[in-house]
Amino acid sequence: MGKIAITERVTGHTELIGLIAYPIRHSMSPTMHNEAFKKLGLDYVYVAFEVDNSTLEDTVKGIRAMKIRGCNVSMPNKRKITQYLDKLSDASALTGSVNTVVNDNGVLTGHITDGIGCMHALSDEGIDIKGKKITIMGTGGAGTAIIVQAGLDGAAELSVFNRADEFVPEAKETVAKVNDKTSCKAAFYKLEDQDKLRAEIASSDILINATGVGMKPMLGESLVTDPTMLRPDLVVFDCVYSPTETRLLEIAKEVGCKAINGLGMMLFQGAAAFKLFTNEEMPIDYMKDVLF
Ligand code: NAD
Repeated sequence: MGKIAITERVTGHTELIGLIAYPIRHSMSPTMHNEAFKKLGLDYVYVAFEVDNSTLEDTVKGIRAMKIRGCNVSMPNKRKITQYLDKLSDASALTGSVNTVVNDNGVLTGHITDGIGCMHALSDEGIDIKGKKITIMGTGGAGTAIIVQAGLDGAAELSVFNRADEFVPEAKETVAKVNDKTSCKAAFYKLEDQDKLRAEIASSDILINATGVGMKPMLGESLVTDPTMLRPDLVVFDCVYSPTETRLLEIAKEVGCKAINGLGMMLFQGAAAFKLFTNEEMPIDYMKDVLF
């Protein structure tokens, strides 16, 4: 364990915010939140706890018993934790998953900020998704959160693609929920249908990759390899942030598209959680300097 001087900051008044996941030691979230607390002079400390499904229920009891202000939640706990909470945000209820828990005097509310993070990352680049058509490849945790948030935030149309795997049944349910609960028109297609993918991208304003294709162990790979499927006025967003430029973004840049990586999404999902915990805005420009 590294030696870090924290005694000047942590006192008997300091409130705790946790991150509960397994594995989690690699996470950037503790650095992000603690740097922001320090910058704003907020009396919180953010600590990662290795918690998996087997100790999750006791952990939530601990949050209540110890009056901990809240926590972030990552894999494998994002879905399972919903059953232990008192309330869910609209996006959490629609996705069935939670990445942020806020404890308001013993009432635990679950939120999901990954989709919010993606929407803010787009607006930070000057892109308003209202009334737009978006093609999304991937319907895992990230894809589902993006589909739901885009629907809630006023996207006009969503074309959702996933390969034939275990994610498909729930992807179809998510699409049905978006059609039922929002004014957005969503449709599901098989990723294997490349002609359909080409046609849907051609009529979209934004293309989003929400799969792990492009990062290890699929480094250098892309779900779109033919540049003629893209056009310069298409925005291409990749949830992957390591590497910062995936093969998809390389192709998009060659075509002349606006190409955005997942770093902003990661920052803004954290900023949305930070606001829920503290009621303060995360200092975004400062955080970009610290983290990127
Ligand atoms: P997940 O395991 O929940 O979902 C994986 C998705 O990728 C599924 O849709 C699956 O069908 C698809 N997939 C996997 N291999 C594929 C392949 N070879 N071809 C086609 N599709 C394939 O994962 P997740 O948590 O949703 O993460 C997806 C990506 O988003 C990862 O790269 C992750 O790093 C990234 N992510 C980024 C942020 C951020 O803040 N930028 C947040 C969450 C996830």
